[in-house]
Amino acid sequence: MSVRAESGTTDNSENMLHKNFKNIEKVTYGRGAFSQLAETVKPVRKENKNYFVYVVDNYFKGKELSNKLQNEPEDLIYFIDVDPHEPTTEHIDALRDEILAKKGLPSGVIGIGGGSIMDIAKALSLMLTNEGSSTLYQGLNLIKKPGVFHLGVPTISGTGAEVSMTAVLTGPEKKLGLKCDWTVFNQVILDPELIATVPTDWWFFTGMDTYIHCIESESGIRNNAFSLAYGEQALKLCREVYLGDKAGQTPENNDKLMVASLMGGLSLTYSEVGVCHALSYGLSKIHGTRHCYANCVIFQHLPDIYPQGHKEFSKMIEKHKIKLPQGLSKEWDDATLTAMAQVSYNLPFMWNHAFGDNYKEIATLDYIKDLFRRL
Ligand code: NAD
Ligand code: ZN
Repeated sequence: MSVRAESGTTDNSENMLHKNFKNIEKVTYGRGAFSQLAETVKPVRKENKNYFVYVVDNYFKGKELSNKLQNEPEDLIYFIDVDPHEPTTEHIDALRDEILAKKGLPSGVIGIGGGSIMDIAKALSLMLTNEGSSTLYQGLNLIKKPGVFHLGVPTISGTGAEVSMTAVLTGPEKKLGLKCDWTVFNQVILDPELIATVPTDWWFFTGMDTYIHCIESESGIRNNAFSLAYGEQALKLCREVYLGDKAGQTPENNDKLMVASLMGGLSLTYSEVGVCHALSYGLSKIHGTRHCYANCVIFQHLPDIYPQGHKEFSKMIEKHKIKLPQGLSKEWDDATLTAMAQVSYNLPFMWNHAFGDNYKEIATLDYIKDLFRRL
């Protein structure tokens, strides 16, 4: 059996003073870069049973891109509907079992889609070589063996899932990532032409995820010159895309947004996210709100915590005529607010980053409930 990325470690780098993360091994970037897919994976095709598994967002089924997958006849292609469910452990396990029963271990997995498909490709690569259910591996460094080669082709920009070391899965008990060095893609192809069809509201919400990653990354105690360098550049690009003279969904701006997403992901990796993301997990977990949208719904109510970022965010909302819901908390009773606050409270890294060493005195359960009452 041939497996990839032997550099995976078992250290707990999150607890180290200085973070020690694995990066994507190779990145191709540029309009039309997707056409190099077959050539890129050719050397890897010699491994295992000499075939690839494609996991492609169902949006592309029957569209132009589905005729340009550059697959070989022996490859398996799965078009996956990511609406309304985010990736689940059950789905990954079933897919893995089906693939291994059909053809044995593939040379690699190719994921083409948004953050959901990026996570499916990463998780599938790991679960093809790790026995049992993926629920056993939700957490940090629980994966025992490196996965097969995996390649990501993002078709929405913003979450940074293309660069992160986690594959977020919803299981029966928890929504948590398979997180280790081996999760990181071996190869990513960034082709800005692929994000041209993203509907305007999602283009806005996912781009704002990048913007909020950078604002939160720079506004806290874990900010450092390394995370700031990525964050500042990503913020500059976001400003051009959403506020500049030529703001909007243009090919030039898609070039920029794709890079901003990756750099925003690296910025938060080497620093931390903050209050908006901590609340966002609470909102998503209890109400199923999608990540990027949840962040926007929350960030509009944090002017005191992120004053500059909030001012700029409000301008972007206005410029692109985005309507965000108001008065949501009127529908939530105390038990619901407590459940939401508990999820957020259990993210101490984020509160610590945002509020400093005495964060426990500030970010109490009652304080977090009050933040949710703003929504
Ligand atoms: P998504 O992948 O959930 O897709 C959103 C919608 O856009 C879907 O309907 C999809 O079919 C459609 N779509 C995808 N590409 C398109 C295109 N080019 N044109 C038109 N429509 C297109 O969206 P997302 O916001 O990128 O990802 C959200 C997911 O990412 C969540 O599951 C979340 O848990 C995960 N996430 C992961 C990380 C990580 O680090 N691993 C970080 C943040 C979020
Ligand atoms: Zn985010």
